[in-house]
Amino acid sequence: AWGRVKNVCQQNGLLIMSVMAVVVGCLLGFFLRSKHLSEQEVKYFQFPGELLMRMLKMLILPLVVSSLMSGLAALDAKCSSRLGIMTISYYLWTTFVAVVVGIVMVIIIHPGGAAQKEDAEDSGKPIMTAVFMPLCILSFWPTVSQDLMETTTRRVFIYGIQDDNGTDIQNFSLDLTPPPDVVFRTLPGTSDGMNVLGIVIFSATMGIMLGRMGPNGSALVNFCQSLNEAVLKIVAIVIWYFPFGIVFLVAGKILEMDDPSAMGKKLGFYAITVVMGLILHGLFILPSMYFFITKKSPIVYIRGILQALLISLATSSSSATLPITFKCLLENNHIDRRIIRFVLPVGATINMDGTALYEAVAAIFIAQVNNYELDFGQIITISITATAASIGAAGIPQAGLVTMVIVLTSVGLPTDDITLIIAVDWALDRFRTMVNVMGDALATGIMAHICRKDFIKEGEEIPLICETK
Ligand code: ASP
Repeated sequence: AWGRVKNVCQQNGLLIMSVMAVVVGCLLGFFLRSKHLSEQEVKYFQFPGELLMRMLKMLILPLVVSSLMSGLAALDAKCSSRLGIMTISYYLWTTFVAVVVGIVMVIIIHPGGAAQKEDAEDSGKPIMTAVFMPLCILSFWPTVSQDLMETTTRRVFIYGIQDDNGTDIQNFSLDLTPPPDVVFRTLPGTSDGMNVLGIVIFSATMGIMLGRMGPNGSALVNFCQSLNEAVLKIVAIVIWYFPFGIVFLVAGKILEMDDPSAMGKKLGFYAITVVMGLILHGLFILPSMYFFITKKSPIVYIRGILQALLISLATSSSSATLPITFKCLLENNHIDRRIIRFVLPVGATINMDGTALYEAVAAIFIAQVNNYELDFGQIITISITATAASIGAAGIPQAGLVTMVIVLTSVGLPTDDITLIIAVDWALDRFRTMVNVMGDALATGIMAHICRKDFIKEGEEIPLICETK
């Protein structure tokens, strides 16, 4: 038995150290809280954790660009459109399921206390906005200036258009898509990072075009493939810093957090509702879907991505976790890299089941706190806008809190009430990010299964240019 334990430890050394790092980080954080460190001391203490975040962020951009460009260029048009349609449909479907789970949970648990009927001011508005809002958000049109958009979409999207301090690649994609590097800046205090959505759209388009160019595009595709390999090699080195970085990342956050005893009872119930919804969706619904579609064990699959899940818990950022998820799927779960290159970066950008679930719960919780009874139309509105808001949210810490404005505005709830839930958001953010990452990883496995016939030479690096042309 001892031999077996030793074996497991040897094989999963890094993972075990990462789990221990989370525990040590929690203990250290709570211990140091009692020491009342000064702001400056806390800053110094957080330095190793900040270093980890920066290392991960450094890898996002080259990884997304190289994955999508080389991945899509390598597929023939039929394969890529099939994979694209299947992936996007699956992502939309699971996000919607997550929203429904959230709505059912928050209605059953009713964390916001008793609700009273209030006269609906303008009952036509919710349905209008249910249709109107997602369309505007999804079309990334920066000059939509209706009253509803003033406080939400404009704030999120136009802000960056007027800003010219971004990097070249950011400014370039600004012309085509919503500005990267924007969402987080609208909420002071959230971490800096980038909205990868713009970059995803740009890289995917480039990848498809390179594929169509045939041999003429191979120089750039080769470059991207090398870049992709190099990033993964860097990840393999950086990964050894994780356990150390995680301790300080987790402890540093605990040092910063508000006093938990100040959290009201309602807020506690709200947090429990979100966490229960996330557990139901992340541990039962998504793995069941994986099982029914692939007929393979989701437990084995999830074990392969544990490292990525831990990183998402520690960083609250699905984009920062992307390099690790990529490595886990490739090396532990042996998923075809052609599938990973497309499904994963797109998922990390648009597929956020955890965020969607949380947005729906939070909006209905705020309605409950205000004794505002939502009618069926408004609940439908929330489900649609929460789905759209999660798609629009960047994979960075607390981005969902910003895009929640969209959901609240759509049913006429006070946006200022976001402050009600801020106290617990940093913690819930970690759990929803885990579910986001889990959703992307399971989707990659499902897509690999569904599209396996399209990728006959499984496991093999395919020729650079379209296979069937
Ligand atoms: N932190 C989440 C993520 O990175 C987004 C959010 O819900 O705030 O996936």
